[in-house]
Amino acid sequence: MTDYATLLKESGLKATFQRMNMLENIARHGHMSNDEIYEEVVKSHPSLSLATVYKNIILMVDNGVLVEVPIEGKKSKYELIKDDHIHLVCTECGEVEDKPHNENADALFTSMTKKENFSLSKQQINLYGICASCQIQEAS
Ligand SMILES: [Zn+2]
Ligand SMILES: [Zn+2]
Repeated sequence: MTDYATLLKESGLKATFQRMNMLENIARHGHMSNDEIYEEVVKSHPSLSLATVYKNIILMVDNGVLVEVPIEGKKSKYELIKDDHIHLVCTECGEVEDKPHNENADALFTSMTKKENFSLSKQQINLYGICASCQIQEAS
């Protein structure tokens, strides 16, 4: 089990129970919207307000604990900071699937940014489309 208290402290944040609970839920689900995070966390912290959850999400994104995955026409999803990977994002159901990072893509970005003398600090590769199960539903 990941030590979320250490992760938070190393990122310069206080390890509150609410934050640790948020991180546990996000880790279990992979990718969650802020509303989904709130719905889960409020079960163990009933007095928690939506505004507090939103505020903590933004804070944890700013401090590099969480990563925001933008979804066209829908609310962003959030995931724990992980090794670089590629997202397959379904614009129908909002499902986000993690795919292993690709060495060829990595080499392409390295040479491209080097040529532009662009100092790359972070990257996120999101491929948007319609997932297999949504395609089945559309056809029926
Ligand atoms: Zn889908
Ligand atoms: Zn991901």
